[in-house]
Amino acid sequence: MSHSIHENIKLIQSEIGNRELVVVSKYRSLPELQNVYDSGHRHFGENRVQELVEKYTALPKDINWHVIGHLQTNKVKFIAPFVHLIHSVDSLKLLKAINKEAAKADRVIPFLFQIHIAQEESKYGLTAAELAFILTTNEYKLLTNVKCKGLMGMATNTQNEQQVAGEFDALKSLYDAHATQNDFDTLSMGMSGDYAIAVSRGSTMIRVGSKIFL
Ligand SMILES: *Cc1c(COP(=O)(O)O)cnc(C)c1O
Repeated sequence: MSHSIHENIKLIQSEIGNRELVVVSKYRSLPELQNVYDSGHRHFGENRVQELVEKYTALPKDINWHVIGHLQTNKVKFIAPFVHLIHSVDSLKLLKAINKEAAKADRVIPFLFQIHIAQEESKYGLTAAELAFILTTNEYKLLTNVKCKGLMGMATNTQNEQQVAGEFDALKSLYDAHATQNDFDTLSMGMSGDYAIAVSRGSTMIRVGSKIFL
């Protein structure tokens, strides 16, 4: 089994070139994560704070932990001391909470704004207009303990590749529209079912779980 996890990571890494692979380790056991770690991989993504903190506590400290799921303001304090990148900032209120806890931890926390690109109602994220508005507010500009690195989005879960490609194109255009002025370098898009499309549409970081652990 460990063999196939290593093989899967190697294969995906060879397909995506120099883009960053975040291994989505949610619901996976500590031995499975240790296994990924032993293959040399250091970027892990989790979507629940409690599970993330338990894994952070148990595993080697040189892992880069990514928060990829919806984050509640009252949970920020548990991850602020060590989180590597928060992909799922979807409100100014949440960002202010992150900034406050980052200041307490004497850090600048890197983050991405999550943008709603899917047809599905249930997916979190800002609209293009909401993003543009936040970026211009003084409230945002005064937050000195957070640093926006770019955008994240999830395409609709569908077999329709044209639709998925269109959604990723929209996210890439939005990214390009704000990248220079805001010093962006990270576009997080692509999961097990659609990372090949995402990479062809300009993704710099993919988040893959099921295709690695199968
Ligand atoms: C679960 C999850 C992933 C990984 O999904 P897979 O289909 O297992 O690769 C990526 N991004 C987010 C936000 C997730 O919640």
